[in-house]
Amino acid sequence: MTANIPEIFGCNVFNEEVMKARLPKNIYNDFKRTIRQGEPLDMNTADFLANAIKDWAIEKGATHYTHWFQPMTGSTAEKHDSFISVGPNGTAIMEFSGKALVKGEPDASSFPSGGLRRTDSARGYTAWDPTSYCFVKEGSLYIPTVFVSYTGEILDKKTPLLRSMEALSKTAVRFLKLFGNEKVTRVTSTVGAEQEYFIIDKKMFDQREDLILTGRTLFGAKPPKGQELDDQYFANLKPRIAAYMAELDEELWKLGIYSKTKHNEVAPAQHEMAPIFTTSNLGTDQNELAMEVMEKVALRHGLVCLLHEKPFEGVNGSGKHNNWSMSTDDGQNLLDPGDTPMENLQFLTILCALIKGVDEYSDLMRLSAASAGNDHRLGADEAPPAIVSMFLGEELDAVLSAIEEDGKYKTQTKTFEIGVNALPSFPKDSTDRNRTSPFAFTGNRFEFRMVGSSDNIACPNALLNTIVSEELSQFTEILEPFAGTPSFEQEVKKLLKNVLKDHRRIIFNGDGYSPEWVKEAERRGLPNYPSTVDCMPHYTDEKNLRIFRKFGVYNRNELTARTEIHLEKYSKTVRIEARTMVEMARKQLLPAALEYVDKLCAAIATKNSLGIVSKAENALSAELNTLCDMLYNSIQRLEERIENACGISNVQQQAEAFHDSVLAEMEIMRSVADRIELIMPRSAWPIPTYSEIIYNV
Ligand code: ADP
Ligand code: MG
Repeated sequence: MTANIPEIFGCNVFNEEVMKARLPKNIYNDFKRTIRQGEPLDMNTADFLANAIKDWAIEKGATHYTHWFQPMTGSTAEKHDSFISVGPNGTAIMEFSGKALVKGEPDASSFPSGGLRRTDSARGYTAWDPTSYCFVKEGSLYIPTVFVSYTGEILDKKTPLLRSMEALSKTAVRFLKLFGNEKVTRVTSTVGAEQEYFIIDKKMFDQREDLILTGRTLFGAKPPKGQELDDQYFANLKPRIAAYMAELDEELWKLGIYSKTKHNEVAPAQHEMAPIFTTSNLGTDQNELAMEVMEKVALRHGLVCLLHEKPFEGVNGSGKHNNWSMSTDDGQNLLDPGDTPMENLQFLTILCALIKGVDEYSDLMRLSAASAGNDHRLGADEAPPAIVSMFLGEELDAVLSAIEEDGKYKTQTKTFEIGVNALPSFPKDSTDRNRTSPFAFTGNRFEFRMVGSSDNIACPNALLNTIVSEELSQFTEILEPFAGTPSFEQEVKKLLKNVLKDHRRIIFNGDGYSPEWVKEAERRGLPNYPSTVDCMPHYTDEKNLRIFRKFGVYNRNELTARTEIHLEKYSKTVRIEARTMVEMARKQLLPAALEYVDKLCAAIATKNSLGIVSKAENALSAELNTLCDMLYNSIQRLEERIENACGISNVQQQAEAFHDSVLAEMEIMRSVADRIELIMPRSAWPIPTYSEIIYNV
């Protein structure tokens, strides 16, 4: 049955349309005004709203409501309360107050806070984010909220994003006035997050402790066929996948998510879903929701959706291309080059602000995509390198050269002067794409490709917004005195020229996967932080702290807390992986290999007694025996290294130990075990192989 999209779209969302239909005009207007002005709702309006939302939610089958938030764990959190209240004469009535809508107090002492909130002192509370819509799912009304401590410090991923959006709007509105945009009152950052994921059969998943406990395979020899034929990318969909994707789309549409594109990705069993872009706050909520729905729908099909950045060694991992731009309330996309000379100049100025920002804060961009999982991806030959650079394409590069040389920009047919002529429009199609670049201009937006597939996108977007706020405010300071004067254009060009002179090094149009780029980047002085532990300490560098404070995105405590949380999470992730390896090696792999050696030895003994030569058995048992010893030794070493790392109390040093010592031994153990897998008979190997997992659906 095919879905009637317009009919089901957003049917579980308390969106604009529903609000207009269900709220009295004055309440609706009050509500919209408070959102616009960022004011708290008055209790009367809140009570009215709550009642209307409750009635609507009950019609949609809801019995409960929950404040839905995004703590630092990396997943979303929810605690459900029913609408039930004691009525007269022992009856039950359904109640929902404005207070319950606006504020919640989950006992949240177990969420990571990086020392911001001690369990014995202030509790956290959740506060409704009315810029994101409430929705109904699985019998509950979901209220998107932010999560903060009673002393006002942030405990979640969403709040910094909202703060950065405020900052961006203020600075961009002021900046745009310089270019004659008097009517713009609000600028909003936008995001379209292309979500990559793997789908495997649940029967395979259930047999692999590593997948169950860590989301990735910690062992597994390369299959005879990987992705070398490129025959999976955009290939036709297998029936089970097609059925899964159809149901996924339908569920996403019901939740108001404009799921638009679906296709097979490069690696076997890898796929992608891309929604139509929206505002960053809504886009973040929707991406969190989409990931949850992807996992749940898969289970209904006997499948498992893997969102880990690197579920399988040797084939591509998964990322989340974070397409980012800014829109004005009068409908301009600020990264659209525009049609008039003034629009072009405005675009080029914003572009140069980004060039300067990315160059000055590339460490923060790297950081915003750092996690134990994503470390396996960045810098491998399939994802952007860990070095941040920008790709603009030849056309735009030529325009920048013209600015630098005070020259004119030539195409085959025409010569253009910046600020005098309207530039030709730049290609928006994918022919001009550089897929190896971490931050690529794609015609009317930037695509930040470093973000990991399981990451919450609030952090990278908060960061981009903050960087751009800083640069736009600097530019505004410089240019404001000349606004409306005849020398304005000259001053703009002078500024851009200076910026390009200092920051052009961040632009790289070549192959980001090549080893030459690593050397070249080093010559250019660009930072290269291969792992999470290398980049994390830079979060609190003075220059970074300064912009976060200036725009009220994080204070020093919040930033220090965040650094600590990320490092702790890194250590815990590697620890769980290492322990899982020890367990699998001890309980499954080594016993299987030893048993097979036993069998071979028994066969050799029998053959010997009969005077038959057993060349194959001899060779195989000797090799396996050596490998078993190696595996055994590796288990011993890994256990010791885990214990040593666990004993370190400084979070940075502990994370470094997990990286340098534990992870290194894990790699050794894996290479030994994978060799054993390759020479053992399938019937004697205790866990599903790569071929069985990735070619099974
Ligand atoms: P590709 O795979 O070629 O990059 P897709 O169509 O898969 O292209 O994804 C492009 C993404 O960029 C979509 O989510 C789209 O909505 C988003 N996008 C387009 N314009 C903007 C914009 N102005 N701001 C943010 N995202 C945008
Ligand atoms: Mg893309």
